[in-house]
Amino acid sequence: MSKALPLLEVKNLKKYYGDSSNLFRRNPEVVKAVDGVSFTIEKGETFGLVGESGSGKSTIGKSILRLSSITDGEVLYKGQNIHKLSKKDMRNLRPKLQFIFQDPYSSLNPRIRIGDAIGEALIDHGLVDKSEIRERVLEVLDICGLAPYQIDRYPHEFSGGQRQRIGIARAIILNPDFIVADEPVSALDVSIQAQIINLFSDLQKERDITFLFISHDLSVVEHLCSKIGVLYLGTMMELGSRDQLYGNPLHPYTKALLSAVPVPDPTLKRERIIIKGDIPNPADPPKGCKFHTRCPIATDMCRIEVPEFREVEANHFVACHFA
Ligand code: ADP
Ligand code: MG
Repeated sequence: MSKALPLLEVKNLKKYYGDSSNLFRRNPEVVKAVDGVSFTIEKGETFGLVGESGSGKSTIGKSILRLSSITDGEVLYKGQNIHKLSKKDMRNLRPKLQFIFQDPYSSLNPRIRIGDAIGEALIDHGLVDKSEIRERVLEVLDICGLAPYQIDRYPHEFSGGQRQRIGIARAIILNPDFIVADEPVSALDVSIQAQIINLFSDLQKERDITFLFISHDLSVVEHLCSKIGVLYLGTMMELGSRDQLYGNPLHPYTKALLSAVPVPDPTLKRERIIIKGDIPNPADPPKGCKFHTRCPIATDMCRIEVPEFREVEANHFVACHFA
């Protein structure tokens, strides 16, 4: 009867920014960037985390990999509490957990050839013999669609899409089990986005890597993710399989985000729902349902009562009084 342990379990994760213990300020501003978020990712799965800018996506990504501390909750990787691991255990685990940034250029030293930049993590972790590094770098360059001669080039000689390939190469050279990709295509032109998404898709098929794929755009995650979570001001509003979310979206926020996604068949045009207003100040989020100030169907109840995050059909959760 024992079910296989999920690769990653996030339980009631909270991350608050701002110092609430400062005695000299009466009302220190606390931003509840992540306010009690739970989800699981099975081995080999790609989980899509979606939400507008400022909703807490990057904070979740960094917290999961312990690149940032957390306020409360648990992150279990193969059943072990990541934030309770000793420095030594964490260091040993580090190569298995990788992060891909929106702009890999910012983490590339302009004076270091990309072959060295990609190989450097192998050296840092003492993972292979020096003599094998070049070969390993050439191998990942090939996997990531870069040419062998590019190994000796400098970062400025690459286009945006190629730099993202370099960012991916740096992550996969360590043979990770789990990768957080934080808006890896958001800065790229649409045509280049498609190429990088295809690269992720190939990696999913050919390597046994589990992904948390972050995007503000539901059309980007549709192709890659089997499970999707929709985040709003640090709270998960809806969580379900791709089919549930695209076929039967329940939260008004999800419906609005989806209505902006182009559909290939123009006769199936979705009704465009415009979300009114701007995202509220995260230091002072609306009471009740955090989305009520922008929701087309909100009632008095939504202004007062926080909707429970409930399972409305198998593995499909939503936080809305009217779903
Ligand atoms: P997203 O990635 O979805 O755009 P973030 O996780 O970057 O969202 O940010 C969530 C909220 O936390 C935002 O309101 C942001 O301003 C705040 N925040 C993020 N990082 C910090 C920080 N280091 N210090 C203070 N506030 C932060
Ligand atoms: Mg972000």
